[in-house]
Amino acid sequence: MANLSPALKQATPVVVDHALGSWIYGTDGVDYLDFTTGIGVTSTGHCHPKVVEAAREQVGKIIHAQYTTVMHKPLLALTDKLGEVLPAGLDSVFYANSGSEAVEAAIRLARMATGRPNIVVFQGGFHGRTVAAASLTTAGTKFSAGFSPLMSGVHMAPFPYAYRYGLDEAAAVEFALRELDYLFKTRTAPNDTAAFLIEPALGDGGYLPTPPAFMEGLRERADQFGIKLIFDEVQAGVGRTGKFWGHQHSTATPDILITAKGIASGFPISAIAASTATMSKAWPGSQGGTYGGNAVAAAAGVATLQVVEEEGLVENARVRGEQLQAGLRSVQERFPIIGDVRGLGLMQGIEFTAADGTPDVDTAAAVQQETTRQQLLTLTCGPAGNVVRLIPALVVTEDEITLGVERFEAAVAAVIGAVAVGAS
Ligand code: PMP
Repeated sequence: MANLSPALKQATPVVVDHALGSWIYGTDGVDYLDFTTGIGVTSTGHCHPKVVEAAREQVGKIIHAQYTTVMHKPLLALTDKLGEVLPAGLDSVFYANSGSEAVEAAIRLARMATGRPNIVVFQGGFHGRTVAAASLTTAGTKFSAGFSPLMSGVHMAPFPYAYRYGLDEAAAVEFALRELDYLFKTRTAPNDTAAFLIEPALGDGGYLPTPPAFMEGLRERADQFGIKLIFDEVQAGVGRTGKFWGHQHSTATPDILITAKGIASGFPISAIAASTATMSKAWPGSQGGTYGGNAVAAAAGVATLQVVEEEGLVENARVRGEQLQAGLRSVQERFPIIGDVRGLGLMQGIEFTAADGTPDVDTAAAVQQETTRQQLLTLTCGPAGNVVRLIPALVVTEDEITLGVERFEAAVAAVIGAVAVGAS
């Protein structure tokens, strides 16, 4: 007899029977509106018929066409399709399975391409759980505590978290760029710095859009010093923020782009993209893996990108995201315990703040648990865990957003009501 490891911590007690679109149907007979989408993965909704069909068809042709041994058609087709949406000049793609693996591939590439050792990350960034990716992650010590030593050569600069610092966005950007310049003087000289690694919107670190001026400041310094600018689009990419790539809210473009999650609607596949000139600096064979660029996942990826295009899902994410944010801001007006509502597109965070200005972790945790009882699935994030995040599918409808906001408000009311009763 075996059991699942107690190391597995789940946000909800739900056992899934099946799922479709924005809905998860539990074995408990309850229908849940899913605003978690498998942590921003099921971009086209659960089991989109075209994605299901593409995967079914591919399973009957070949499942595992190991890519360092033979090539397969879905990977070529996916590369073509990605070529239509990748930033200009990023014409060379390498595939892996997970976000963490792709992050590590990007770091390997940046170090090989520059011959430099150090990576600068930004406080609150999440880049994965494998040991090197965890070494790059500062979204919470829970991701790196207890299994040191971590990978060396990682240095952290502040992120322009305006709300936390009590600054306006412009002042927060100015502060964070100044501290980055100071890091060059105090810890990692530009000539020792291979890359900046940043998310266009912090994900697990608290659902904070990265200010465009900060992205642009990084681009300027990357150009000045020959540092590779890596955008981790694992969570923010493929339409999630209302633009195809999260970085497109700024004018900055990456030297290396990392994508995963939403790219194949739930099949495990990830990729890094760079210019051929940059990729050519890596030794042939320096990247690889047994399962990378799986044929079924690649076929699902092609279908996903087609559905995103045909159904106008990037625009839907923008419009529904505005609706969601407006709904959440009106909830905030009624519940001052909500300190901040922020996000881009269908990536919205609700930060709970106590009256003394400190993170209100208990209320956020209680609200997240209560949403499940209200038949709305949500997650928390942020280093303290005091941010509830909503990540609907890109196919979400107007009615589903309205319902989601109603259920979220009911959860907040139930928790605040309970607190008020408990206090009396
Ligand atoms: N980067 C970002 C921005 C992420 O959000 C995640 C996953 N939450 C990762 C990397 C790691 O991806 P994975 O869990 O697939 O390894």
